[in-house]
Amino acid sequence: MRFDFGIIGGGLSGCLLAYYLIMHDKRVLLVERNTIGSGASGTPLALINPATGRFAKKGFKSLESIAQIDALQRLSPFSNGYDFIQKRGVIRPCFEAEIAQKTHQNYLSDQWGKGVADWVTPDEVAERFPLINPSFGALIVHNGYVVNPKMYLQNLINWLSDHPNFSLLEEYEGVTYLSHKTRHTEELADPNYWVFRDEDIEMQADILIHCTGAEELIKAMIPGVIVKGQTLQFKLADSTYEDNSPLQVVTNQGNQTNNWSSFLKEYAISAQGYLCSLDGSNLVMGSTYEHRFSSPLPDSKGKLYLKNKLDRIHERLSSRIVQESMWAGFRFSTPDRMPIIDELPTYKGHYVFRGLGSKGLLYSHYYAKVFSKYLCGKGFLSKEVRLSRFK
Ligand SMILES: Cc1cc2nc3c(=O)[nH]c(=O)nc-3n(C[C@H](O)[C@H](O)[C@H](O)COP(=O)(O)OP(=O)(O)OC[C@H]3O[C@@H](n4cnc5c(N)ncnc54)[C@H](O)[C@@H]3O)c2cc1C
Repeated sequence: MRFDFGIIGGGLSGCLLAYYLIMHDKRVLLVERNTIGSGASGTPLALINPATGRFAKKGFKSLESIAQIDALQRLSPFSNGYDFIQKRGVIRPCFEAEIAQKTHQNYLSDQWGKGVADWVTPDEVAERFPLINPSFGALIVHNGYVVNPKMYLQNLINWLSDHPNFSLLEEYEGVTYLSHKTRHTEELADPNYWVFRDEDIEMQADILIHCTGAEELIKAMIPGVIVKGQTLQFKLADSTYEDNSPLQVVTNQGNQTNNWSSFLKEYAISAQGYLCSLDGSNLVMGSTYEHRFSSPLPDSKGKLYLKNKLDRIHERLSSRIVQESMWAGFRFSTPDRMPIIDELPTYKGHYVFRGLGSKGLLYSHYYAKVFSKYLCGKGFLSKEVRLSRFK
């Protein structure tokens, strides 16, 4: 079987690239070492948030990226299930004066556009969102999403699997890169294509694309760091408030909501870590933060870190946690926090698409589309994402 493209890695970057290449009528083989969404893209819930960094700057191409996700939501049969992706306003409360000042400055200079984002003064935050601790103001971005990325990808792949031009190899261990000097362990039978073998079946791909996230093995060629992150999944005890928290929340639409469950069905919170929910009952607090780690597993240090973040959002919120579980994963970030999309200098026909950092949900859609057009000879790659920017 011969494919136009062999994509290594079934995370957000690999799956969405496969989708857009299929939309260009290309034949695509997707190869995953484990299962779909088993890397960083397996985080239990994540935010699509157009604001980025400590001071909530409007992310590069973030509105284009959101528009791309909106379009996919409207048009694609695989994304019609609202149980794994839902629109949310994203609130960025500022709990320090300096952060508030810089975030406000960014809001004024970023020109978000009418109705896209608002700056909310401390008094307005207290009045509209009394569940949140007193703050120095907040940015609200109205066009975010909360996503269960793994379910999202599984639905996408189920849909792609019915397509005659698409094949998936899961639990395939055959792709191993030892260093930038050694060759792909699958022998190049012919310098013009790459070979995969699954039992007796040989599959060939003209072009190979590496979408392997935080995979260490070709790191020598790609500048960046691997950052560990953790999530805490939990429910909140149904008890009445013991801490005199106000129970009424006036939402953006002027509706009254009276608890975290209703609140999180309309908003997510991003405050050096994120708190969100799809159904209002199962909550996730998550963050990527750890550059030095010894174990790939979730740990108590990470749990404490996340609980402190929760209590920052609302005092003693962590004391109401019940039914908790944890998850850990790794993201790959480049020095300038922009993805790397390019042909590798070592082998012709061997490309890389990685480094989505903490914005994988936001950028995978936009850049997979841009990259697919480039690979089909219908577009170009800007210098911001090419490897040559690091020279
Ligand atoms: C705790 C945590 C919270 C996060 N929260 C958010 C968030 O709220 N919003 C957001 O936008 N982003 C968030 N991110 C970042 C986001 O998850 C990543 O940017 C994104 O998932 C990266 O996708 P990827 O496809 O590049 O990598 P991955 O999802 O890691 O996919 C890479 C895949 O390649 C496979 N693979 C690797 N090597 C091989 C090989 N040799 N052969 C075959 N397969 C291979 C792996 O098994 C894996 O499935 C978070 C990350 C973490 C860890």
